Parts: sequence; C-alpha cells; structure tokens
Amino acid sequence: MWVNWWGGQQCRPRRTDRPLDEAGVVAALRRAGERGQTVRPLGSGWSDSTLTLTNDVHVDCSALTGIVAVTSDTVRARAGATLASVQAALAERGRALATVTHGPGATVAGAVATGTHGSGATIGSLSDQVVGMRFVDGTGRLRKVAAGEPELEALRTHLGALGVVTEVELRTVPAGQVEAHEEAVGAEEVLEVGGPLDEHRFAAVELHLPSGEALLRWAGPVVDPDPEPASTGPVEALGRVVTRLGHTASAQWSAQRSRPVPRWEGVVTGSPHDLLPDPHPGRGGVTEWALPREALAGAIRELGAATAARDREVRRPVEVRTGPAETGWLHPAHGRATAWVTVRTQRGDDHGPLFRLVGSVLEGMGGRPHWAGRHDWTAADVALAYPELPQFVAVRDRLDPDRLFGGDHLEALLGP
Ligand SMILES: Cc1cc2nc3c(=O)[nH]c(=O)nc-3n(C[C@H](O)[C@H](O)[C@H](O)COP(=O)(O)OP(=O)(O)OC[C@H]3O[C@@H](n4cnc5c(N)ncnc54)[C@H](O)[C@@H]3O)c2cc1C
Repeated sequence: MWVNWWGGQQCRPRRTDRPLDEAGVVAALRRAGERGQTVRPLGSGWSDSTLTLTNDVHVDCSALTGIVAVTSDTVRARAGATLASVQAALAERGRALATVTHGPGATVAGAVATGTHGSGATIGSLSDQVVGMRFVDGTGRLRKVAAGEPELEALRTHLGALGVVTEVELRTVPAGQVEAHEEAVGAEEVLEVGGPLDEHRFAAVELHLPSGEALLRWAGPVVDPDPEPASTGPVEALGRVVTRLGHTASAQWSAQRSRPVPRWEGVVTGSPHDLLPDPHPGRGGVTEWALPREALAGAIRELGAATAARDREVRRPVEVRTGPAETGWLHPAHGRATAWVTVRTQRGDDHGPLFRLVGSVLEGMGGRPHWAGRHDWTAADVALAYPELPQFVAVRDRLDPDRLFGGDHLEALLGP
C-alpha cells in the first residue's frame, strides 16, 4: 500500500519502479507499455490530490537526485532532488531559488508538475522559473525542451501527464537576507488590492474567519544593521491568544489551532528559505484555490459567511498568499494575478463536507483548484477554466499518444 505524506491518499500499485537514471526510466516505461499498464510518476508524495494514485505502475523518481549544473543564473537539477537540496547547493554559491514555498521536501519535478508557488505578488511559481527540462515521453523517447519553445508552456505545469521528467533547469536569483515581520491586522484592510500583500516582496496572511483576526507575515530588505538572531520556536504570544479567548481546555486547543499564531519574537533576519517555510506543517487534508487577485476580499467575506457554522471544522488558520499571472497553460494562475486561499484540516477530520463547501464558494468567485490539493473538478470544469487546454491536449497527443500516463484519475481531469 502506498500512502501520500500524511496518509490521506492511498493506492495499491501492482508495481513500483525506482529508476536510478534515464536508462532506468526508459526501461520502466517500456515494461509498463508492453504489459498494457499505465504509469503514474511519483516524487515525494507531498500532494494531497489524486494525481499520484494508480493501481498499475508507480515510477518513483526519488532516487534521481543531485545537481547537474549551476551557471551564473540557473540551476539544473535531477527530477527527484528536493527543493531543500537544490536550495542548499545554491546557497553555497551565493544563489537562491526565487520562489520560496512552504514545502522544501517536494521534488523539483513534482513541484513543477503542480505549479507550486510561494508568496509575493511579483514572484512567480517554480513553474514560472523553469527554463528547460529533460524527460522521457510516453513513446519512450528522451526529449529536451528549452525556453522559447511553446511546448515548455505545457510542461511548466505538466501534472505528470506528459512524460517522466528527469531534469529541470530553473532560473536563480542572488541569495540575500531579509527581515521578517509579523503584525496583527484586520482582515478587511490587509486583503484589498494595493494593500500589504502587494507592497512587500514576500507576504502571507493567516486568518481566523469567524473573528476576522489576521496575522500578516512579511519579509523585505534588511534595514536594521544589528538585528535579533532568527528564532523559529513557539512564542509567548500563543499563550496570550489562548488566554484571551477564555475557553475551556478542549475548546482552547481547537481555537488555538484555528487562529493565527505568531512564529517569531520581534523582527528576525535570515534567508527567506530559512525563515518563511512553516517549520511545523500540520499533517492533514488541504484544499487550495487560485482566485483572481481582485476577488480576494469578497471571497474571504463569502467564505466567512459560508463557514460560520463550521468554525470547529476549520481547524487551522486559513492562509492567503498572492502571485503574478503565469504563462503555463495549466497553471492555476494562468493569465491573471492571483490570490491563493488555503484551507487545511487535521488528520482524522472528515474534510469532505467542509472542502466541498469551500470549493463551491471559491469556484463561484472564479477560483481554480491547486492541482496538489483536494477538489472535485472534472474535465468539463478544467475545459471551462483553462483557455489553453486544447494546446495542452495537442502536446499530450504528440508526447503520449497511447496514454501511458493515464488512469482513471487523470482521465477524469483531462479527458481520455
Ligand atoms: C508541508 C507541505 C508544504 C507545501 N507547501 C506548498 C507551497 O508553499 N506552495 C505550493 O504551491 N504547494 C505546496 N505544497 C504542495 C507541494 O508543493 C506539491 O504537492 C508538490 O507537487 C509536491 O511535490 P512531490 O515531489 O511530493 O510530488 P508528488 O506529490 O509525488 O507528485 C505530484 C505530481 O508530480 C508528478 N511527478 C512527480 N515527479 C515526477 C517526474 N519526475 N516526472 C513527471 N511527473 C512527476 C506526479 O505524477 C504528480 O502528478 C506543500 C505540500 C506540503 C506537504
């Protein structure tokens, strides 16, 4: 039995191949093809969607690790290298990934497959940073795609539907230190276009929907020449928040988990990749929606109203991040500046009814689901939301005419 990183998605593949190199990938795909089996490529299994599920063959790319080359402004990594390992290799050379995600354990190819993003109105996702890729397509042929080739716009968010990626080349930026701040804010003012989410290089908001209590976490250039050292441990403010609520012991626990909790004491300084990821990500279900940026404030009001009776089910703060419009044909931020809204539950919760409600509210506001989260979209929804889907399908027809990268789940999303 295979399970994803927190155990919420499961499947029983009849075979798992774990190739060590491109020849191994070619051999695994040939074997599956000869047996009439379908293949799902696998990274770290950090997605919570159905994209990695199969009863046929998993091609687990986690052994394809290592950095192939670093130039003055790019890095070429093997597909199964984790974002943390790529970032560590870059830091030694004074470079960094521009996109700072919460999930350093994701593999490069897996992160690009689902359009993994960070936070900052001007910083594109990892998909946006891609300048080249190598992959083995559904016919068993090794292919390369480079910047400027239209096919790259399909591969930027490939959903593991076009081939097994073996190498990804990403743009890099100079490494630098930032000052990170936290501020209690009102939800109303923080979400508006032109507000703090758009002002700072990195910015994210955690929200408690029923109260409108919000915590803005942002980072920007260092101004204090003698800053406090970075601290990522829990802080006393947690105690203050809980005490102020004055609930009973068990209610306190639930309230504490659903309200934003400060992470740092004062202003802290460090690399964005050290400071910004969540040091203690909760294990549980995730649904995330990419909304047109201007719809954010209204969407959060709607979501608050719709979930008012479900306060106890929204067990972690709702997170809001932003990002620019993307070119990738199936990137959820395709063609529009985007606000990302994430709702998480905890292991053991029945997230179904809550996530369906969240999905229906946010898709009603123009939302597209994050490919790595829970959603119930079908091929009909995808066709309506993604104007470039026909181009993606044309590339898929060319690269995988026999649908080696198929299976029920992918068919439900992309059609046969
Ligand atoms: C703690 C945590 C924090 C996260 N933070 C963020 C965040 O800040 N922003 C964000 O956008 N997302 C975030 N995510 C989601 C995460 O980035 C995505 O789920 C990502 O796709 C996971 O990569 P993976 O290597 O685990 O891929 P998997 O989950 O294993 O696979 C995802 C997709 O990639 C495909 N795939 C994997 N490897 C290959 C390959 N070599 N060739 C072809 N296809 C392949 C799979 O078929 C599947 O379609 C987070 C997840 C967790 C658990």
